[in-house]
Amino acid sequence: MQAGLPRLHARPLAVSYLLAALVPMALALTQRVAPADPLELAAAALGMVATLGMAIQFVTSGRFEGVSGAMGIDKIMGFHKIAAWWLLLAVLLHPLAYVAPTWADNPDLGWLRLEFYLTDPAYRSGVVSLGALLMLVVTSALREHLPWRYETWRGLHVVLALIAVFAALHHAIAVGRFSAQGVLAGFWWLAGAGVALVMAVLYGWRWLRLHRHAWKLASVTQQADRMWELDIQPQTGTPALPYHAGQFVWMTEGARRFPLFDHPFSISDSPAQPGLKLLIKEAGDFTNRIGTLPPGRTIGIDGPYGEFTLQAHQPQAVLLIGGGVGIAPLLGIIRDMLARGDPRPVRLAYAVGQPQNFACIDELRAATQTLDLKLWLLSEDGPLDPDMAKGRLTPERLGQMLDGLDPARTKALICGPGPMVVGVSDALLDLGMPMQNVIYERFDYAGGLRSRQDRARTRGFVSVGGALGLLVAGFAALAG
Ligand SMILES: Cc1cc2nc3c(=O)[nH]c(=O)nc-3n(C[C@H](O)[C@H](O)[C@H](O)COP(=O)(O)OP(=O)(O)OC[C@H]3O[C@@H](n4cnc5c(N)ncnc54)[C@H](O)[C@@H]3O)c2cc1C
Repeated sequence: MQAGLPRLHARPLAVSYLLAALVPMALALTQRVAPADPLELAAAALGMVATLGMAIQFVTSGRFEGVSGAMGIDKIMGFHKIAAWWLLLAVLLHPLAYVAPTWADNPDLGWLRLEFYLTDPAYRSGVVSLGALLMLVVTSALREHLPWRYETWRGLHVVLALIAVFAALHHAIAVGRFSAQGVLAGFWWLAGAGVALVMAVLYGWRWLRLHRHAWKLASVTQQADRMWELDIQPQTGTPALPYHAGQFVWMTEGARRFPLFDHPFSISDSPAQPGLKLLIKEAGDFTNRIGTLPPGRTIGIDGPYGEFTLQAHQPQAVLLIGGGVGIAPLLGIIRDMLARGDPRPVRLAYAVGQPQNFACIDELRAATQTLDLKLWLLSEDGPLDPDMAKGRLTPERLGQMLDGLDPARTKALICGPGPMVVGVSDALLDLGMPMQNVIYERFDYAGGLRSRQDRARTRGFVSVGGALGLLVAGFAALAG
């Protein structure tokens, strides 16, 4: 089980990131090079930071549990996206800082030097890297607005990332002031080998596992409007998946069992049950076909991933708050609490647009008889059953959920559409819950509205970028 690997939390990860960035600079300090202007030294450091940072982006893409497991997919993807911006900034500043001293003395000569760097064949790999990184960041920032299938964007993302990093490595080894020689050149070869290894794991080893440890679709059951529950069982020879309720897997099916085509889905069942259950809402090309998949179809499963679990957060009492198909991991947690006879107080709010979107509510209603479970069923519209209420999850309703519970010892696990997650998360903070007790998982990575917790995370990530800036300045001062 991947959970057996060491899983680093946010702070140790940030420190490791900065220490990794220090390595090439420390190695550069051991080289003897011609004296240079501090700005030129800063330019060299920016190049080193950007090149290593691009290589590190391959392991912050949410696929390595050791790196992202303890942080959760939401946070690690947030870091991945913000780091991309400071890498782009570093790559853009790299040639500018090299020519800045010339510019200051003689602007015409400064322009000539910049033109030389951008057009001379010796520097071409650097320009290619810059172009690929620029396209990478822009196509990611605009992904929601591009008329491309997700898989097309994702394939392009991988190709551009590879071009950007390998062109940067070539540039460093070919013309780097510090990097073209000695131990630092060796370091860059090693970094290149590291990226190649990561690619081999992501798209070679995982592909092999999807084929060698195949699963089989046992049944597909409609649980709500355009929402299906898949029962997936291991094929002979495939080991069981030791997971915690609330985690998710990457799934592929049939002949398309290649990691580029996999989709993340939360496990909606308890590990006490054999196999896996996934509750899937039709949302696009892949999920729209889910209800028509024939039993017996071969399924690829990669996982488990994530920390959206009671085991990771150990609450004394728990608020489970789900919107739409966001009920999937929460259903898994409830089913697991039932299987384990968990006595902890649990309050579940389940909000949908229309009552026909409620999945498995009879099962949830029945669970109130066994668990210390209170249930809020909310629908924005439509004919309601007596135990349902009309409307959204207001702060008043959240306050009712917390009645009788100590906010400092209660944890909230929220899963649903972006705006709901933001509204509920902020409201729970207003009700006195500490930020670290409010945990959420969103089903898409596309930014949008930000919660107070998102903004706090962003500040943390930006401060890592700021620390990198200080390291660059420190290098320029020390190497001068
Ligand atoms: C951690 C996590 C857990 C999830 N759990 C569930 C679940 O239990 N049930 C459920 O119905 N949905 C879940 N989702 C959402 C689900 O992955 C997407 O709805 C699905 O991948 C859409 O694919 P599509 O081809 O049908 O639609 P598309 O039209 O291709 O995509 C719709 C949107 O889904 C996202 N998406 C698409 N493909 C991927 C991918 N391969 N990786 C990441 N995001 C993608 C993109 O934001 C895209 O804009 C989860 C998502 C995440 C990140």
